[in-house]
Amino acid sequence: MLFGINQGAIYDDIRVEHAKQIAELNLDGYAIGGLAVGETHEEMYRIIESTVPYLPEDKPIYLMGVGTPINILEAVDRGVDFFDCVYPSRNGRHGHVYTNDGKLNLFNARYELDERPIEEECQCPACRSYSRAYIRHLLKAKEMLGMRLCVLHNLYFYNHMMEEIRDAIDEGRYQEYKREKIERYQGES
Ligand SMILES: [Zn+2]
Repeated sequence: MLFGINQGAIYDDIRVEHAKQIAELNLDGYAIGGLAVGETHEEMYRIIESTVPYLPEDKPIYLMGVGTPINILEAVDRGVDFFDCVYPSRNGRHGHVYTNDGKLNLFNARYELDERPIEEECQCPACRSYSRAYIRHLLKAKEMLGMRLCVLHNLYFYNHMMEEIRDAIDEGRYQEYKREKIERYQGES
């Protein structure tokens, strides 16, 4: 499929003008590129908000290279349909794992004797069989399985969140879902 990729840095006028031009080409889908490259989250949200209305409503909209769970929740709210990002895999390789109560760094000494899974309610292959303490031991020992389990968990977390997002939209409760998800994610774990 051929996508039109919107550019224009953080300049609303250039973004909108370009969006109008590529919309005329009747492409399979549309992407917003050139964001998540160092601008603030607020600037990124503003550009998505001003650009999406000028892209065809009946075509998929893809936000390139984004992002954190909260970035995704905010972008979906502004009309984005899908994403790609290195965070779940790259952070996983560094022992940083996502949970509904925020991100954990499994290298932290507080997990040395922690027999709980990364996340109690998670059904991923890492959480069903291994403890935080054991995964931390693997990471400290530079055993590849440690990175692999963290990446497995993070990819599962992101995929599961996207399922929840689709269900919440289908059921007309996206605003409520987003608010609860962000509140819990930003709370102390
Ligand atoms: Zn898990």
